[in-house]
Amino acid sequence: MPKTEYDIDGKLFHVEKVDTGWRGWFVESDQEIYEGQLKKEVLIIAGYKPPRPSGICITIGSSQLQYEYSPPRTMQDAYQDFLNRLSTGKKPSFKKDKPLFKFVIFARDNCLCFYCNRFIDDSTEVQLDHLIPRSQGGTDASSNIVTSCKICNMKKSNSLLDDLEDRIEVLRSRNRSYGIDDDHLVEF
Ligand SMILES: [Zn+2]
Repeated sequence: MPKTEYDIDGKLFHVEKVDTGWRGWFVESDQEIYEGQLKKEVLIIAGYKPPRPSGICITIGSSQLQYEYSPPRTMQDAYQDFLNRLSTGKKPSFKKDKPLFKFVIFARDNCLCFYCNRFIDDSTEVQLDHLIPRSQGGTDASSNIVTSCKICNMKKSNSLLDDLEDRIEVLRSRNRSYGIDDDHLVEF
């Protein structure tokens, strides 16, 4: 008999074979059903990480899962990884033809709100903000994008800071220490 229940992060995940593939759900919240082929996206939701980017469907019922389990990472985990990489002395290289991940900006700013200096490790609280607002000609370049908490972002809205020049200089200096180009665009 194929195995039908898996422990994922201490929660029971139930899987059933259907004609088209598999369907599965967390037993304690059975309203949300992951259907179809249990492809990569579903497995990631369920907490599995494909070993290769091209990872294919899980084979349930065989001797082994083809996916490794990885608990969801918090912002702090990701930030710590980034710092660890930096501490090896290697500067990360950022591909110029791809936008910078938001996370790079959060890490560059030490996960501190650029305006109130509060540490934010809550993905629902942390936002990116344009130092010079788009409506005033600000771009998505790394020297114009800062980490902001939700409250400051709302408060600042479309206004310009009095000490704008100094603030931009702070960002340029942070960019230099991380090896980020000032004109590298950030993904939104
Ligand atoms: Zn703030």
